[in-house]
Amino acid sequence: MSDIQTLKDWIQESDNIVFFGGAGVSTESNIPDFRSDNGLYKKQYRYPAEQMISHSFFVSNPKEFYEFYFNQMIFPDAKPNKAHLALAKLEKMGKLKAVVTQNIDGLHQKAGSKNVFELHGSVLKNTCVKCHSHYTLEETMASRNADGIPVCPMCQGIIKPDVVLYEEGLDEATIYGAVQAIEQADLLIVGGTSLVVYPAAGLLQYFHGKHLVLINRDATSMDHQADLVIHDSIGQVFSQVVDLD
Ligand SMILES: [Zn+2]
Repeated sequence: MSDIQTLKDWIQESDNIVFFGGAGVSTESNIPDFRSDNGLYKKQYRYPAEQMISHSFFVSNPKEFYEFYFNQMIFPDAKPNKAHLALAKLEKMGKLKAVVTQNIDGLHQKAGSKNVFELHGSVLKNTCVKCHSHYTLEETMASRNADGIPVCPMCQGIIKPDVVLYEEGLDEATIYGAVQAIEQADLLIVGGTSLVVYPAAGLLQYFHGKHLVLINRDATSMDHQADLVIHDSIGQVFSQVVDLD
């Protein structure tokens, strides 16, 4: 039996699927992974990407932080790809219970997914550091001052994206929800991640269900633990296992 048919059968059998996704899910919507493309940014900016999106850099150099952030991490025109759409459809069918993602672009919600645990937060949500008012991405972009720093119209505090920066901890409620979903799943599909970014590999250890499936273009450190490994594009695979019409 082909790998695609095996995955199809397992999806057919299950009504408790959880999907865990990494940067590879977003790159197929033309959102670059800054981690794998760091060389590119080095030429353009005075600091490495990891430093520019750290908490201390946000505090000490907000102008440069937002220059990098709005230029390199915000893609308002990005559209969900076939993987996002297939996952939203599986949730609607009652088969998929949760998406756990390391991506911050909000494309799962754009595709229609409801139960999404965004481990690293979301660029679509933004909060004033002073009065804690919430702002959409559009409102945040519209609130930028002459230095390009978004400023709260209510209190003049800086608006910060609800994105987990380097040096910041992950949101506990989000982690808890993700762990619970993974613990209860009987089919866990992991896609578009090499499983090296924290806390990916650790979260997989909570899975005790029937089938662990890994879909990634390249081999990962967890391939030997999976029941099925497919080295291919995630959108390509999902368009073959879920009828999107
Ligand atoms: Zn404010």
